[in-house]
Amino acid sequence: MRIANLDGRLVVLTPRGAVDVHTHSGGRFPADPGAIYTDWDRFRDWARTVDDDLGERFDDAQLAAPSPRPRQVFAVALNYAPHAAEARLASPDDPLVFTKFPSCITGPASDVPLPGGSVDWEVELVAVIGRTASRVAEEDGWSHVAGLTIGQDFSEREVQARGPAPQFGLAKSFPGFGPTGPWLTTVDDFAAPDDLAIECEIDGELVQQARTSEMLFPVPGLIAYISAICPLLPGDLVFTGTPEGTGAGRSPQRFLRPGEVVVSRVEGIGSMSNACIAPLHVEAVQISKTA
Ligand code: ZN
Repeated sequence: MRIANLDGRLVVLTPRGAVDVHTHSGGRFPADPGAIYTDWDRFRDWARTVDDDLGERFDDAQLAAPSPRPRQVFAVALNYAPHAAEARLASPDDPLVFTKFPSCITGPASDVPLPGGSVDWEVELVAVIGRTASRVAEEDGWSHVAGLTIGQDFSEREVQARGPAPQFGLAKSFPGFGPTGPWLTTVDDFAAPDDLAIECEIDGELVQQARTSEMLFPVPGLIAYISAICPLLPGDLVFTGTPEGTGAGRSPQRFLRPGEVVVSRVEGIGSMSNACIAPLHVEAVQISKTA
């Protein structure tokens, strides 16, 4: 089953198009896509009864983030060994978790303003939490996931490398740096949710191509590891890491330019397309430092 955020309203997608949840359920479920994850199990059971013969056609440009206001957005660095190698870093023994701040989360058709000349691409599988997860066992990890979507973990490498230790949170949280979509596909739709083809193209050139089975720490383990420390809340996102093929890992390095279009694809979900644009303002911020 696929659900989406269509211009701010929750819809179930059928072969014919979109079914408005609030209207079709007679008001039983909210119109707001961000509000559905706290009532996920009840909603999912109802949504499965929606008739495939229903559905209005829609324009893909109307699609927005499946979970538009996550309270927490976790992301995982170096979760594919070849990507760790291209970054000239050791493969971690435990998940290396950081955050993308939720204000960067956008939808599958959103533009990406480039704040500098070293913005990189990172296609990722994103798990959307459907049930509060606190100290969850690894074998129960999937049962806390509402579904999967595609994400781009856009990263400003100059900000990331500034200073004596990596600045992941800010470098990956400029406005528009977290496109997600095009919709959420529920876990039960996948024959093998731990083994999906994942790829990224820039202006039609394939730059990343892998399978999610190459993750060092698959989704259930990430849920267990993170939830042992921070409870995962309904609607939260987990960006599960990017495979090799990023621009910083190339020789010479390559970064995104205004006008380029980044297409992100995951098997069993679909694809999303985000255009890079010049920002309205680029201003270096000077602040004082005490002695
Ligand atoms: Zn990433």
